[in-house]
Amino acid sequence: MPRTTLLPEKFLHEVWSQQLFRTASLESHEGLSVTIIDPGTPNTDTGPDFLNAKIQIGDTLYAGDIEIHRTLEDWSTHLHQHDPRYNKVILHVVMKSGSDFERTTTESGRKVPTLILDQFLIEPVRAVWQKSISGERSRRLDHIACYGKNDGVDNNLKLNWITTLGMRRIELKVRTMHNRLHELASPDNYDLREPAARYGEIPFQGNIDEIPPPARPPSVNDLRKKDAWEQLLYESIAEALGYSKNQLPFRRLSSLVTFPRLRELPGDAREGLLFEMAGLLDNTTDDTYQKELRHTVGNEKTKIKHSPMDATEWQFFRLRPQNFPTLRIAALARIVERMIDNPVLEFLLGTVKQPDAVPRNKIKEIRNYFTIPADGYWKNHYTFGKKASRKLTQLIGRSRIDEITINVILPFLFLYARTYKDIDLRGATEELFSTLSAPADNNITRKIDKELLNGKPEKTTAPMYQGKIQLYKFYCREERCGECEVGKVVFG
Ligand code: SF4
Repeated sequence: MPRTTLLPEKFLHEVWSQQLFRTASLESHEGLSVTIIDPGTPNTDTGPDFLNAKIQIGDTLYAGDIEIHRTLEDWSTHLHQHDPRYNKVILHVVMKSGSDFERTTTESGRKVPTLILDQFLIEPVRAVWQKSISGERSRRLDHIACYGKNDGVDNNLKLNWITTLGMRRIELKVRTMHNRLHELASPDNYDLREPAARYGEIPFQGNIDEIPPPARPPSVNDLRKKDAWEQLLYESIAEALGYSKNQLPFRRLSSLVTFPRLRELPGDAREGLLFEMAGLLDNTTDDTYQKELRHTVGNEKTKIKHSPMDATEWQFFRLRPQNFPTLRIAALARIVERMIDNPVLEFLLGTVKQPDAVPRNKIKEIRNYFTIPADGYWKNHYTFGKKASRKLTQLIGRSRIDEITINVILPFLFLYARTYKDIDLRGATEELFSTLSAPADNNITRKIDKELLNGKPEKTTAPMYQGKIQLYKFYCREERCGECEVGKVVFG
């Protein structure tokens, strides 16, 4: 882990502006609750680091400036206690408290509350650092490097290159799943290990030395354990439901409450156990639905040897209500229900390998399988205790189901085909992949369309969608133009 004294202040600014910490239950060093209403505007001039922030501290809403440091002592080392420009500071944010705690005091003599961030970080400092660097780098790249210079490059070359990268991206996902399958199928390992780092993630997460190696690699028979395949699929779907902000907690939840465990439970206890182990049920509430959920769980919780998660591990901040983890956990419980009632492996293999069905119909069947209508409480709630302003019809939107199909179902089927040497399944999955249309555009695909392809191509398939993301994240953003087929022509 980098020593605090070596952390660049720019990094600390990124941590604050991107809110790379648990925002749900922040507490100042003085014991007051802290809620960030507005983190403020970065100050490019002299004076405090962020201006015009709004922070609720205890019962009072403050408007003013934020000053950020590595340690508490930096305030006095930088002589801010004698500088009137810091008189409007409402919160002193530091990564670590340092050797001795001393109250932050302004030139006017006012005491400023202190927020010590390291106890609220979601991930180890090094992982957060890496994330903030890539966030900063991507914002720096207003335009991709070849923008305005790539018009002369043959359009077919661009499209072929993007499609090739789309295939590579899927292959990377297959490899990640392969590694996780090996963990799950290893004797004595099932249910014991947290998953290792996933594709696209910073490889510094956790302490790899703390994860014991498997006693022996899984045999061919181990790899054919149905439980391991079902758990792999369930975990991967759970992670995909977490979007970008809740992937880690969803992954943790799905390894705490495993698929085989859920299958043993009566149907009405599954949702309750997931919420209970997610740490999201409030013991003190009058909310009838939460009470019902807790009642259905009975003593099932005690059969799990791990402690429940903490509610603060879940991110609600800056999420659209439709993406709240509460709604996604409710969706996960219903997907599990379906995976049990209409066994998922048999369904997927049966659907994809139908000899006479056209790929479009197979995709429709998969979409229907994962479409979860809103029901009961979740028809008019995004989270516990708060009524939604309008009725919900589905718990997962069509675009998210397509994302799950591309990022989870297809790689899973490719891995299955490889493991079982099933050429028919591989061929049928490839056909699905090239037929599946791309999900809704995002900032990255729009950027590549505009700056590389001179507008969105008439038909964008799933491989092209994946390829644009791969190109931007692993080539443009990393400034690897020399290794890019377009770059070889433009900058050759
Ligand atoms: S990596 Fe390729 S597409 Fe991206 S900016 Fe460089 S030359 Fe252009």
